[in-house]
Amino acid sequence: MNIESILKYQKADEELYKVEQKLVNSAYRKKGNELAGIAKRAQARSIELENEAEKLIAELDDIKQKYGVNKSKADEILGLNIENSTEEDLEKLSALKTKVATNLNILEKLLQKCAENINHILAEFNKTKKMYDDARTQFAVCKEKMEEETKLLEPEKKRIAEELKKLEKDVDEKLLAEYKKKRAENIFPVIVPLERDNFCGRCRMELPKLETARIKETGVITCEHCKRFVYKA
Ligand SMILES: [Zn+2]
Repeated sequence: MNIESILKYQKADEELYKVEQKLVNSAYRKKGNELAGIAKRAQARSIELENEAEKLIAELDDIKQKYGVNKSKADEILGLNIENSTEEDLEKLSALKTKVATNLNILEKLLQKCAENINHILAEFNKTKKMYDDARTQFAVCKEKMEEETKLLEPEKKRIAEELKKLEKDVDEKLLAEYKKKRAENIFPVIVPLERDNFCGRCRMELPKLETARIKETGVITCEHCKRFVYKA
């Protein structure tokens, strides 16, 4: 097997890999991912807040309804004609009056507390929405910068791709197909030299002696640990 041709191919491919890594490690890309995370979390929090607000509004309606019932009761007591009431009736009425007044007092406090909670949620909702909007705006800027970076490297990528196209004519077809498969899985370098007769030149793991003994015949063997092709230099 012609190892030289695949090594030559890989040497050219390394340039392409470097260009790709430049884009992968772009500061804009990292910032963009960070911002996308912030936007996603803000969106999830907004949904939680909406649900909380919904519950509180239902609670508020319930308190208002109870308040209304007690208020009517209070008005009813005030409007009663007590001219002919017995002492006992008056005592009962007085107890009821106290009870209704206590209820109204408690309900007023609950109403206030509930309204405060709704305001808190509303404030957090607005803050969260602003966070989301800001992250989206900044993300759009990052995305544009990333696209600019990609575009800028396009001619370089094209040049290398053309060179690779020429070089691949000399490479064993099956080996090239497998090389490309590994490369697509983000493995690089794809082909590495055998070290100290029995070790993978990349991950340094020991390879089966049965296979390394035949490496000259087979051309390459595959490291079962890092999946790379190993050749004898
Ligand atoms: Zn390995």
